[in-house]
Amino acid sequence: MSTFDGLVAVVTGGASGIGAAIATRLHDDGAHVVVLDRDLPAGEPAPVPGLPDDVRGLRADVTDSEGVRAAVEQVVAAYGQIDILVNNAGIGAQGTVADNDDAEWARVLDVNVVGMARASRACLPHLRASEHAAIVNVSSIAATAGLPQRALYTASKGAVLALTRAMAADHVREGIRVNCVSPGTVDTPWIGRLLDAADDPGAERAALEARQPHERLVDPTEVAGAVAYLASPASTSTVGVSLAVDGGMHEL
Ligand code: NAD
Repeated sequence: MSTFDGLVAVVTGGASGIGAAIATRLHDDGAHVVVLDRDLPAGEPAPVPGLPDDVRGLRADVTDSEGVRAAVEQVVAAYGQIDILVNNAGIGAQGTVADNDDAEWARVLDVNVVGMARASRACLPHLRASEHAAIVNVSSIAATAGLPQRALYTASKGAVLALTRAMAADHVREGIRVNCVSPGTVDTPWIGRLLDAADDPGAERAALEARQPHERLVDPTEVAGAVAYLASPASTSTVGVSLAVDGGMHEL
């Protein structure tokens, strides 16, 4: 018997990086997993390149309320229930508070914060019907580390911490546990794109590694392990926390 046998998990932004690792881990631990991602073909649930064969993917953009609601209903039509929601879809932004205009602030907050509210809103009626309901949001150590040149991204991930606490309080008495993970720098295609854009990718990677006390990037599977714990019966009394997965960076 595996941890998530008979349970259905939805992972937003699950076609790449951390989301793909989470989808794989929940699948390997027995869940039926559907990933919602803007970077997938439209249509019926279909296999996702790079993920285990029976993980399914649906195109959905978390900035589109109706699209997210329709995708969640497709999941329920296919599997009959939703027990776990992982709000992972997110985008980055660089610069000081002066560098991003109003449109950029609205764009990033719409994905990173409102997107979590949209997916949660669509899934809550189904989570209420589950006897093992959990939501795990993906924040970032940026929310608390005070990193330079990340004002907008930091604000968005700080909002995820606050949203997690608020949702935890609102839904714990309905039997839905809400928690979040706060990764350090994780070796994903996102970080690959940042390194590719750097003047000296090797030096930039070394700097990112040195920033974390364990002197390496976090592996996506390590974040997936933390998410699996927070979604599992092993953490039944854990509510509203942020679990750091950052090699100790939050201690500095
Ligand atoms: P990634 O770019 O490799 O993957 C992100 C996925 O989200 C992609 O598949 C993308 O298509 C999808 N996505 C983006 N916007 C979307 C939208 N509007 N609707 C639906 N899907 C959307 O990134 P990653 O590094 O795996 O990051 C995943 C999450 O982890 C993000 O929330 C990010 O903020 C967070 N995070 C990443 C790091 C890191 O160092 N990589 C650190 C801390 C937190």
